[in-house]
Parts: sequence; C-alpha cells; structure tokens
Amino acid sequence: MAKITFYGGVGSVTGSKYLLESNGKKILVDCGLFQGERELRERNWQDPPFNPKDIDAVIITHAHIDHTGFLPRLVRLGFAGKIWTSRATADLMKILLLDSARLQEEEADYRNRHNLTNHTPALPLYDETDARETFKLLSPVPNTAEPHEICEGITANFRVAGHIIGASMVLVEMANARENGDSIKFLFSGDLGHYDQPILHDPAPPPACDYLMCESTYGDRLHDEVPSDEKFAEIINEAYKRDAPILIPAFAVGRTQEILYMIRELEDDHKIPSMPVIVDSPMAAQATQVYNRFSEEHDEEYASILAKKIHPLRPDWMQTASTREESKRINNMKGARIIISASVMLTGGRVLHHALRIVPDENATIIFVGYQAAGTAGRRIQNGEKEVKILKQWIPVRCHVERVESFSAHADWKTVLRWLHGLPNTPKSVFTAHGEPDAAQAMAQHIRDEFGWNVVVPQYEQTIELA
Ligand SMILES: [Zn+2]
Repeated sequence: MAKITFYGGVGSVTGSKYLLESNGKKILVDCGLFQGERELRERNWQDPPFNPKDIDAVIITHAHIDHTGFLPRLVRLGFAGKIWTSRATADLMKILLLDSARLQEEEADYRNRHNLTNHTPALPLYDETDARETFKLLSPVPNTAEPHEICEGITANFRVAGHIIGASMVLVEMANARENGDSIKFLFSGDLGHYDQPILHDPAPPPACDYLMCESTYGDRLHDEVPSDEKFAEIINEAYKRDAPILIPAFAVGRTQEILYMIRELEDDHKIPSMPVIVDSPMAAQATQVYNRFSEEHDEEYASILAKKIHPLRPDWMQTASTREESKRINNMKGARIIISASVMLTGGRVLHHALRIVPDENATIIFVGYQAAGTAGRRIQNGEKEVKILKQWIPVRCHVERVESFSAHADWKTVLRWLHGLPNTPKSVFTAHGEPDAAQAMAQHIRDEFGWNVVVPQYEQTIELA
C-alpha cells in the first residue's frame, strides 16, 4: 500500500511538500517555504501535519526557497534523516538557506524592536545554526539518472529538469509489499525549464512511470517569443551612446548568471561594446562559482566554451562587489556600465542604493527581467508612475524603463506538453501541482485534451492512494 499527501505546492506555487508513504516508510519530496499572502505564510508557523522525526528521507528537486526553505525548520523539529538532491543543488542550498536563515532572524529582530509580536520575544522560524545542521544531512548525487536507495525498498533517481542549475526531475520507485513484486513508479517533474536555452541541458525525457506529478506555473499562459538577446543588445547600445548606466534588478541565482552569459556572448559576437559589468551581490558571486563545478549540468555549448578555458559567465570587464565598501565604490563610478543587483522587484537589498541614483537620472536605464508583483516599487516604475518611494525617500522616475520578458525559468504549458510527449507509456494518473488554482486546472485540461489521460488537480492536504 502506498499513498501520497499534498502538503504544499497545491493551490499555490509555494510551499512544495509531498509526502509519500510506502511499506511503513515516509519520504518527503521537497520541503518548501510558503510565501506570498499572509494566510499562506502562517502555515510555516503551524506544526507540520506529520511528525518530522518520522520522516525517513527527504528528496529535493531544486534549490529555490519555495522547495527547500522549510528544511531548517524540519531539522529544528527533529528530522534527522538524509536529504537527497543533485550535487549542484546541494551547493546552492548552502548559499540560499543561510541567506534565508538570516532573513528569518532579521524579521524576528524587527518584530521585537517594533513590538509587533504576540510572543515575547519573537523567535525566528529558524536560524543559521539550524541551516548548518541541515547541511550535515545532505546526500548529493549526480543528475545522471542512476538509482539510489534512499531507504529500505525505495529508490530515487535524478535527471536534469533544465529549470535552474542542479534542478532535477525525480523518479521514485517504491517496492510493492504484495507477492507479485511489482513496484510503483512515481515521477516528480520538479520545476521544468525550456528547451534550447543557454547554459543548461534541455529537460530530460520523462521515464516510464505509473504516476506523474507535473508543474503548472504557466498552465494558462504562454511566453512571448522575441529573442531576449536582440532586445538586450539594442538597449545596451542605446545606453552606451548616452554614456549612461544600466541597472538590472535580478535574482542572484539563475537570472544573474543567464544575463552574464548573454552579455559575454554579445561581446564575443561584437554586438555590444565592452563596458564595466558589475555584479553587486555576494550571493550571486558565490552562485556563479557553482555553475562551473559540475559538468553534468552544462549543455554542449557551455562545455565547449569551458574547454577553451574561457569563463562562460565572465564578460570582458566584470567586477563583483562582495563587501559593502566595494558596493559603495561602485556607486560612485561614472559613464556607461551595467549593474546587476538583487532584489528583482526593488523590495530590498543592495539594488535599492543603485536605484536611488539611477531612477531619477534621465540618461540612465533600468531593465526589468522578472515578474513585478503588485504594490512593489518595481511594478510602480514599470507602470509609469512619476514618483516612487525607495529607502523611505520619494524620488522622481526619469530614467528609461525597459522590460525584457522572455526570461523565465519555467516552461509554459505548450513546453510542458512537448515534454510529456516523450513519456513512453500512459500513466495511471497525472497530478498538476505548483500552480495557482486556475493555472493548475488549465494545465490539467491541456493534458486531457492532448493525450486523453486521467488528470487530477490535487487539493491541499488531500491524500490519494497509489495502486
Ligand atoms: Zn523553482
């Protein structure tokens, strides 16, 4: 007897947590933090609906916080099993979970200083010590499809999902207790990336399975098809002619490296002039190092550039700022230059100090490469508002505002269907998860229309028996 319960990543794109139970063993696939609306975030504080001490092992599909950010809490509450994940994901987790722990500590601190807490003192969800304890449980494996026994009777194998570096789809095989000796194969897509993208391999074809859970972030949307590098070159050349700076607010892991790769390529092809490219984020600098470490994560082009002893993520004239002093020095630079810094939506981080100078400057340019949520400074600028509040100051918006949208780490629904076409058999059931309710429903309908398969949109805390 086996079953799955959906404890997150359903009805929402955050909090991914799927509990598999088979022959008395309990496996958790992903252990993400709920983010966004308050009602969701409060779930992070509730006791988990299972005892963390009873979990035999955890499988992690990729390093993003909505898939890993609850792990230090799980460890704090007594989980002591192994955490299975790809090698690159393990390295990225060490960067991202420490950052997450610091944010948790800062938030608790803020609540205490402003008397915003019912508990005195307010405690963080977890701290740096919990994060470091979590790292001790990591059991990294290559993303190359070999089966690994993760506990008695259960194996898992990891293949490239193409979403960010290290991202995996995971096939979990559970030995069946009944006499026929059959096993149950459950495939988790994880977050799926695109085909023909820079740096990363295409998503691996899905292996034969009985059950399949597939992501549906873009279940009701398609990406536009304008090649981002052409648009980028145009914007950069315009800014260069004005001898003016460009600010790109970008997430430190994934997007920053994609942009660096593109700038380096545009330079090599002489489509843009060389100019200073500044990465102002200590996390981004650390994450960039992880990119060259594991050959199984690189597509052929990336590997061939590395073979020529060229760093694929290093434009001609790149500088990174790790310390605050370096960051301040960069702030005083003049002339054409590209500054990449987090956060994406101008909600915090070092990018704000740059925004204070760039946004009121009519020669400067800001390029948005990620989704800007309602209410954020990024969204206000993008919407053409005349003034915006940054670091408690109202500043006029005079800079050029650009948007390059074709950057997204997620497959849209047509790409998910293309991926599913590679499945060699008809699964008993497909579950659509990791999507807002409308997106998950739409993805389910696209799959039914295309293949005629049985597709279920699971609900929060729903349990489904697997036969
Ligand atoms: Zn993700």
